[in-house]
Amino acid sequence: MKKPNKIAVLTSGGDAPGMNAAVRAVVRSCAFYDIECYGVYQGYQGLIDGNMKLMNARSVNNIVNKGGTFLKSARCLEFRTPEGRAKAYKNIQDKGIDALVVIGGDGSFTGAMIFQQEHNVPVIGIPGTIDNDIYGTRYTLGYDTALNTVVEVIDKIRDTASSHNRLFIVEVMGRDAGHIALNSGIGAGAEEILIPEENRGLDQMLESLQRSEKSGKSSSIVVVAEGDKTGENVFEIAKYIETNLPYYEVRVSVLGHMQRGGAPSCFDRVLASRMGVHAVEKLREGASNVMVGVIDDKMVLTPLEKAIKGKSEINNNLLRVADILSI
Ligand code: ADP
Repeated sequence: MKKPNKIAVLTSGGDAPGMNAAVRAVVRSCAFYDIECYGVYQGYQGLIDGNMKLMNARSVNNIVNKGGTFLKSARCLEFRTPEGRAKAYKNIQDKGIDALVVIGGDGSFTGAMIFQQEHNVPVIGIPGTIDNDIYGTRYTLGYDTALNTVVEVIDKIRDTASSHNRLFIVEVMGRDAGHIALNSGIGAGAEEILIPEENRGLDQMLESLQRSEKSGKSSSIVVVAEGDKTGENVFEIAKYIETNLPYYEVRVSVLGHMQRGGAPSCFDRVLASRMGVHAVEKLREGASNVMVGVIDDKMVLTPLEKAIKGKSEINNNLLRVADILSI
């Protein structure tokens, strides 16, 4: 297998803190190994439009600490069609690009895998999503930063909750995965945590809140992942609690997009740096159609197909810890 001479890097799908640090690591590793590196703007849309620029080590100065992605991201419908992907292929062929690094989530990896199959361009994925819901890595880029953001906000909400004997329901991101809810909930000392992986129903929550109130708690925090499967949205859950536990004044706080922004934590910067270097080194060794991940603090590769289809399980022991501590 021929070592790549020109690599393109793009960020795609939902942005996540640490994406810039990963791009920087890819660009600088390419410079280190004498590989030309193109930065592609706006994800797959940039591949289709030929919107890319040759980068050198200095092109990525002062971005290791920035949230978002300076390459921008986009949801690109055209890349879902063979015609769109053929245009993208023509552009990278014209430039002599012979490998691709895709930083994104499972949608982006699906696109990368199909592109690789159709056009035989080596691709390697770097998992960037705050939800931490990708198989083949213990951590995705942006997850640690998002957790820290959420915990900081819940700490502030708790100040208000305890000053007014209120119960706050805080909705956090996680449509299919409860990693953010479970970990931020434990970190911020939430009384109850509702996640998509486990539907215990609302009655168990009510009982537990009742118990806490009887034992002297005057305020409570309930953290709910947006994909929670109780079948109720946070406002309905609030109404349900208020109806059944009238001594609580219930308030809802939906954290929303603030969870995606902000400077990446040191953990995410280091993770991004390791993943970026590993991606380039593995492309040089002929790897393709795989995602870079970290498991037990070791860099590992997982076939893209497995990364897309596999499920990143939550740690059941954390559920137990949350239960014990909510006494
Ligand atoms: P994420 O990577 O965060 O999961 P999306 O699901 O929005 O985000 O996917 C990002 C982009 O990847 C899409 O806008 C599209 O261009 C590309 N993509 C997603 N699914 C496919 C697919 N089945 N075929 C081709 N491209 C896809």
